[in-house]
Amino acid sequence: MSHTHVLHRSLRQTPPVAVRGQGVWVYDSTGRAYLDGSGGAAVSCLGHNHPDIQAAMHAQIDALSYAHTSFFTTEVAERLADRLVADAPAGISHAYFVSGGSEAVEAALKMARQYFVEIGQPERRHIVARRQSYHGNTLGALAVGGNAWRRAQFAPLLIEVEHVSPCYAYRDQRDGESAEQYGERLAQELEQTFERLGPGTVMAFVAEPVVGATAGAVTAVPGYFRRMREVCDRHGVLLIADEVMCGMGRTGTLYAIEQEGVTPDLITIAKGLGGGYQPIGAVMAQRRIVEAMQQGSGFFQHGHTYLGHAVACAASLAVQDVIRRDGLLARVREQGAGLRERLERALGGHPQVGDIRGRGLFMGIELVQDRATRQTFDPALSLHARVKREAMARGLMVYPMGGTIDGRQGDHVLLAPPLHHHGRRTGPIDRTPGRRHRRRHRADA
Ligand code: PLP
Repeated sequence: MSHTHVLHRSLRQTPPVAVRGQGVWVYDSTGRAYLDGSGGAAVSCLGHNHPDIQAAMHAQIDALSYAHTSFFTTEVAERLADRLVADAPAGISHAYFVSGGSEAVEAALKMARQYFVEIGQPERRHIVARRQSYHGNTLGALAVGGNAWRRAQFAPLLIEVEHVSPCYAYRDQRDGESAEQYGERLAQELEQTFERLGPGTVMAFVAEPVVGATAGAVTAVPGYFRRMREVCDRHGVLLIADEVMCGMGRTGTLYAIEQEGVTPDLITIAKGLGGGYQPIGAVMAQRRIVEAMQQGSGFFQHGHTYLGHAVACAASLAVQDVIRRDGLLARVREQGAGLRERLERALGGHPQVGDIRGRGLFMGIELVQDRATRQTFDPALSLHARVKREAMARGLMVYPMGGTIDGRQGDHVLLAPPLHHHGRRTGPIDRTPGRRHRRRHRADA
């Protein structure tokens, strides 16, 4: 099968053709099975072709596929919002449904800005984020992210965003420095940044509760988010928790930030919201932000054609139902502990494994040249891409990433298996990496 007209991620080769999925397996057109150890990019939280999700989508398609949100709401959108709000951190009262993570981040930024305009603080315009972060690929979201490689060639097009240090204990916590002292040092940096930008000029601090696509499941030291929240509160700045990757149960609680004992003002969610069955994302907003807009202009000045798409909402509602019905949050906590133990047993002593980390079923492995010095590999080797290629050649999907953070290049591998999946593999698994198969993946990632 030739794919000359699809512009693939790699312009040099065509990836395998996925034709079927079942449970934790994806099958290509040659009949080869791939174990989906990363849910694509931490998306497929219920595995593939879950019958309950498919049935819900079919029912919605039979009733109504789409109605524009400037004319109608739908019952599925209303029910999904009710479900998400009922389980959200205190004060979160509304969900704004978009089509993915980048759109959610864009909408959250605009909501933050409009909120301050509505309450008479239009001078608040600065956004502060962290260097070790990914918040999406549209220009606004790309500007917020700190990944130097992704930003580099687009830098002239990006809005100005201030970047502070990430909370990255493996590399940045100093010898003899306690977690408390480290968190305090980072809180001081944030405070100084707000002060330097000017009192009353910062609108939002954006952070991933567990960092995903730049560094493989990096959790913050205990107390870090509480300190950051306090600094935001002192300066009247909104805290936006980007849970596009780590949210919706992946870390063992529906929202990862719950485990930090902190209430954000806005939360962005996407991947696990619809589990890949449909493209959907959302901004979860605090009541006071929505009320400010309600009582002010009465209109959130934003919108896309596919807001609150009915089939996407139906798929997402079904995914959320299954997560609750099957008690998957408890299961993630239990299975996560098992996964960590097994990774540590299998890889903990490997000379090139520097760190194994994460929470729940969201685990990262950092690869290093030297464990003692934590020396990274030469970026020219693109080790993370090689790991992906070799894993695919063996019928395993893992999500690799490499990026420059504070001038350091690192190689990481992310595991994000389904929270639960149904069904068994029905096709053959070819464990012998075939030459043809390898060649197909060569320049990937
Ligand atoms: N925010 C975070 C934390 C992400 O991990 C991602 C994607 O990986 C995004 C935003 C962008 O989401 P999308 O790729 O759905 O636009």
